[in-house]
Amino acid sequence: MRAVLIIGVIMGASTAMADSHDDIQPCELRFLEPPDERGAVVANLWPSGLIPYDFDSAVSSLNRSRMRSAMNTMENTAGVHFIERTSESSFLHIGAYGGNWSYAGQIGGSQDLSIYNWSEHYIICHELMHAMGRFHQHSRTDRSSYITVNFDNIDSDCQSQYNINSSINYVEYDFDSLMHYGQWDCSIGGQTMTCKPGYEGWQNQMGQRSHLSSGDIETVSIMYPELDPDMRVMYNSLGSDELDSGEQTSLLSVTKNIGEGVALDLDIEIRLSADDAITDADTLLGSESIGYVLAGVFYYHNADITIPPGTADGMWYVGVKVAVEGDDNQSNNVAVTEIQVGELQPCAGDANGDGTVDVDDVLATISAWGDCQGCDEDSDGDGIVGVDDMLMILSAWGDCR
Ligand SMILES: [Zn+2]
Repeated sequence: MRAVLIIGVIMGASTAMADSHDDIQPCELRFLEPPDERGAVVANLWPSGLIPYDFDSAVSSLNRSRMRSAMNTMENTAGVHFIERTSESSFLHIGAYGGNWSYAGQIGGSQDLSIYNWSEHYIICHELMHAMGRFHQHSRTDRSSYITVNFDNIDSDCQSQYNINSSINYVEYDFDSLMHYGQWDCSIGGQTMTCKPGYEGWQNQMGQRSHLSSGDIETVSIMYPELDPDMRVMYNSLGSDELDSGEQTSLLSVTKNIGEGVALDLDIEIRLSADDAITDADTLLGSESIGYVLAGVFYYHNADITIPPGTADGMWYVGVKVAVEGDDNQSNNVAVTEIQVGELQPCAGDANGDGTVDVDDVLATISAWGDCQGCDEDSDGDGIVGVDDMLMILSAWGDCR
């Protein structure tokens, strides 16, 4: 069990007015123990902006969809991606544990995030931004140039929420930030914060919970830039490269995300084509959906494929193609391998039947020169091995499969 220092106060948690607008609870940012001397920690960002989560079983489907909506807001703002947890070791465990609170950034393992005001979209966004690694705006290292904190007016259990932290100030001090407290949050009487001269216009404005400020948008965009994936199919091989129609073989493909950003919601398709250009019109032999592939990571795909009954004998192509949104470089999204289905058609000019028309066929034709009923060197089948057969060899020169 992780030792946790709980900072702040949970106010009014026993009331039943969970969704009432006049029962907004101030957020309480929590820290792991031990914090540094000033009670602050530096938040860890989530690698590739990928934030797995699950819900406490008590969270209703309505509140789950409200959370999902706030996640969408953040995903539309920065390069973060909230995904339902499968086996990831670090993830948000979202529930109603009393109050609105979160830890800052990824702390490792299962980390709780609590929502009380589920109907307040931007309170949920506020907590999600904590989980993404943001601290409170009024705790910035430069806050004393903008506000005076009136500790005498702050509830004793809440004082730590006004400690200056050591996090990075990405943009100018932002009174409009969703991460700023209001002047009455945690108050036991008077105003908890007073704007410095020149900023008095913000006195009644700070603490808004109605929108992301331009500073919020810029900050999370710096913390989590939008980076593109680039999926590349590096390798594609079949267990057997000679099959009859209706037969099965194994397929192994190796795909890698060579881009900078995580690839999400990928589809891998295996198609059978008469030529080496793989299109959606080609016969689908199999497909698989993948949740994500992190930047720089390989994906190995094993599948069994069956050549459809009735496929004509001849040379075919099996293509492995990966589709993912945001991958602007499509030229490397497919790899093709040849497969021989059934018997190869004998090819005109291949006098010795080795699959290639070359000098060996010329020599075989010369040695059989003259009347030659039904012999292999009689390429045009007229009963005579002669100049006409030699011309067929020359026009079919090369690989004739
Ligand atoms: Zn907060």
